[in-house]
Amino acid sequence: MSHLLPTLETEPARTAVRVGDRALDYSELAAAARTLAGSLTYPARVAVWATPSLETVVAVVASLLAGVPAVPINPRSGEQELAHLVNDSAPGLILAAADDQLPAPLAELSRVDVEVRVSPEEAVSHREFGAAAASATPALIVYTSGTTGAPKGVVLSQEAIAASLDDLAEVWEWTEDDTLVHALPLYHVHGLILGVLGPLRRGGTVHHLGRFSTEAVSAGLDGGGTMLFGVPTMYHRIAESLDSEPTLVRALRGARLLVSGSAALPESDHERITAATGRHVVERYGMTETLMNTSVHARGPYLPGSVGLPLPSVDVRLVDEEGQRIEASDGVTIGEIQVRGPQLFTEYLGRPEATDAAFAGGWFRTGDMATRNTEGFYRIVGRGSTDLIKSGGFKIGAGEIENVLLQHPGVAEAAVTGEPDPDLGERVIAWVVPADAEAPVSATELVELVAGALSPHKRPREVRLLDSLPRNDMGKVLKRELR
Ligand code: ATP
Ligand code: MG
Repeated sequence: MSHLLPTLETEPARTAVRVGDRALDYSELAAAARTLAGSLTYPARVAVWATPSLETVVAVVASLLAGVPAVPINPRSGEQELAHLVNDSAPGLILAAADDQLPAPLAELSRVDVEVRVSPEEAVSHREFGAAAASATPALIVYTSGTTGAPKGVVLSQEAIAASLDDLAEVWEWTEDDTLVHALPLYHVHGLILGVLGPLRRGGTVHHLGRFSTEAVSAGLDGGGTMLFGVPTMYHRIAESLDSEPTLVRALRGARLLVSGSAALPESDHERITAATGRHVVERYGMTETLMNTSVHARGPYLPGSVGLPLPSVDVRLVDEEGQRIEASDGVTIGEIQVRGPQLFTEYLGRPEATDAAFAGGWFRTGDMATRNTEGFYRIVGRGSTDLIKSGGFKIGAGEIENVLLQHPGVAEAAVTGEPDPDLGERVIAWVVPADAEAPVSATELVELVAGALSPHKRPREVRLLDSLPRNDMGKVLKRELR
């Protein structure tokens, strides 16, 4: 199999990555990465201090060339989180930009400064990097988002990454002519694998905005960007800004592809963006462990609230509580999504029992619950562990109720959970951030809204108002903190 990034040789003069006003073309990126790879002392794995910077991109590409798995580290982690990452992944050294200050548990690791300014002529290559092309070479160890518990280290091979990126390229019609506008962090699958390795594998360009703002997105798309990848909180901010920012509306109209992932995109935000721009946000569904599983295709059909169809190389099935495959494609029967294919992870780092427990006869158990319609489109109703409410003998997906609550103009954010109930088993609780704190939306009105839109057993038994929902850095709601 060819290397994950053959473009390092084939696309020398194209811009590979731009962050702010600094950029590297493919030959400069290759030179900087080769030089760094040649100077690594070849530990079992390296940590990368993953700021949104050229240095991070060079460090990750260098580790790929060297065949040393990289562990991207969230630079905004707290001390306890850093201690978990360092103890769990035991990196032999850390790669960081020269002016990065590393906090406590990382400062003790041996450190290599990443140099991005190497001219192609100066590039030194002490070693042959052929070994890194072997298919099962661990490429990255990416930690899960920690939405349901402590983040788990997920070992991902070059082969799995290539398979997943090529699947996306097919359904998103993603080519070297695309420039991705990027504002996500670089230590998760979304920002690093899709957002950086994705454009680099295609031979296109990644333009990182440094920080997300609707103004920066407008400027990025106007300045040649063709695609935007975001999490739902970004699309929510975009939806909120459409009325006051005509430049944003124009920029979105001109984009080739808008993609959302990492959490469910509320139908109301999708619909507001479509109404103002005529464009659809394409939703895809994946996990750190599985990379990408399903997506809406670039040319549709579009179905707000759906994560689309299985990707070309991925088998997807729904399974009931007895582990039996659900054949129904009725858009109603809820089952667990299980997946199989070349995009799957190799193992959880240092957790062989967890790795075994995650599979059922070769199928990975995602823990996510979904329905499938007659066209084969999947709709995620939530996680089995936190979003599936068993009430009065019914199985209720939190996501469906959240989508209805968010249609109310008085609701800024909404999350639905289940709480133990002596009669019902569990009862539905709605947590709502009112759009206007001075004149909060009435609970009765919200209960009636849900009761009118969905079956009666889905209506919240209680509505609790909050100032904001607890979220992690990807904008995912931390439901365990609501309880
Ligand atoms: P942890 O595993 O540490 O609890 P996490 O599951 O949030 O955290 P990730 O691997 O980053 O960590 O996220 C994968 C999860 O994100 C999926 O299992 C799914 O629940 C959710 N997800 C991803 N994309 C979508 C989407 N388009 N719609 C709904 N949920 C999504
Ligand atoms: Mg998970």
